[in-house]
Amino acid sequence: MKIERCNFCGNKNVVFKQVDYIYRHKGHFMLFENVPCEECTYCGERYFEAKILRRVEKDFFEVLERKKQPSRKIEMPVEVFVT
Ligand SMILES: [Zn+2]
Repeated sequence: MKIERCNFCGNKNVVFKQVDYIYRHKGHFMLFENVPCEECTYCGERYFEAKILRRVEKDFFEVLERKKQPSRKIEMPVEVFVT
């Protein structure tokens, strides 16, 4: 994939990066590390290839249905923000 320009801001500088990506589905979360994407250097919008997102989704459901073990599990603190 090569993004010519950012769809959001029109910036032409989009760089390859590996980032953390959180997939969420009906109250379940899974963190994916080192997911390849292209990121706009101006607004930070990230572009993922369809095949990458399909693999994320596949892994998520395999772990959810216990067909696959994740690399590791983390604990995440939760805070309800009250103004
Ligand atoms: Zn942008």
